[in-house]
This record gives sequence, C-alpha cells and structure tokens, in this order.
Amino acid sequence: MSRTPRLFVVSGPSGAGKGTLLAGVREQRPDLGLTVSATTREPRPGERDGVDYHFLSEDEFECRVAAGDFLEWANVHGHRYGTLRSEVDKNLAAGRSVILEIDVQGALNIRKAYPAAVLVFIEPPSMEVLERRLRGRGTEDEANLELRLKDAAGEMALAPRYDERIVNDDLQEATARLLAALDSHEMN
Ligand code: 5GP
Repeated sequence: MSRTPRLFVVSGPSGAGKGTLLAGVREQRPDLGLTVSATTREPRPGERDGVDYHFLSEDEFECRVAAGDFLEWANVHGHRYGTLRSEVDKNLAAGRSVILEIDVQGALNIRKAYPAAVLVFIEPPSMEVLERRLRGRGTEDEANLELRLKDAAGEMALAPRYDERIVNDDLQEATARLLAALDSHEMN
C-alpha cells in the first residue's frame, strides 16, 4: 500500500503524556522521520545535545532566526523553541512522514507554512490528572510547574482548531488512535 509522506504536528499541555505516547507510536512506526528541535532552555539530566534538542544560547538562537533557519519558533514557558526547516525538509524529501511535537503557537504557524500539515491535539483526561502527572514526573521546580499548569488552560482553549483530538486516558488506546490517525491521513 502506498503512503503519502505527511507532516504531523502534535501538541498538548505539558504533562498530557505526549512524549510517552509518541515513543509508543515510533516503536510501531520506525519508518517515521526524526527531527530535533532547537531550544534555549538548559538540558535536563540525561538529555543530550543534538539528540533531545539542539541546545543553543540566546545569541546562537537569534542568529539562526536571522538566517531564516526556522520553520517556526515560539516562546514556551519562558524559553525559545524552534523547528529547523532543514530537519523537516530532509525527511519529507526522502519520503518519510514527520511528527513534530511542538507548542500550540508553533503548530498554528506551521499550518500557515505547510497548509497540508495535520494538527493533532493530545488532551489529558482532566486538569487534575494533568497536575498529578506533572508532579509525579518531578522534572520541574514548583514555579515552573505552576507556569506550565497556567499555560495548560490557554493551550486547551486552542484544541478546537486542531484536525484531530485524542484524550490520553489509557495509553494503549491513545497510541492506537494516534496510529490510526496517521494511517488515515497518509492514505489520503
Ligand atoms: P520541554 O521543555 O518539556 O522539552 O518542552 C516544552 C514545550 O516546548 C513542549 O510542550 C513542546 O511541545 C514545545 N516544543 C518543543 N520543541 C518545539 C519546537 O521546535 N517549536 C515549538 N514551537 N515548540 C516546541
């Protein structure tokens, strides 16, 4: 069966489980292209430069913005994050679909640059579950956690502008639904 390579954009509040969900999807779909975003935030323990993100200083990020290297970039939770055009283009040119995990502002900007992009929103079952997951993850200090929770409400308000919405309650079910959404858009 032939598939058309598509650009998928996945967003959702911090703690919605996007990372785990996408790891499960990638396991089932090793053919998907990988892209590494750039950010000005500090690496977390265990994160590697060029693998998890391209970790850039404010000046380096600014230079890449000026050079037009970003397909989109946005301020998220107090730091800058951006998708490098080269990372997306090399995959689509090689016939591989790409999934970008980016914030809502970035996603809506991608739609302007690539109208054929498919926007998928991952929702937590409730704000209470979201807070519990974020606290359980233990990656953020209290101030950062509160910022992420406050941002979550604004992000959820933009969910109706997405093509697909998936509630991440049961991980297996959500993974199956995301895989099915990829299939249906690639077969179109
Ligand atoms: P984290 O700091 O937890 O790795 O990521 C925080 C947020 O930044 C996530 O919600 C993620 O969607 C967003 N993000 C990661 N990479 C990019 C990117 O390239 N562009 C934009 N606009 N957002 C990104």
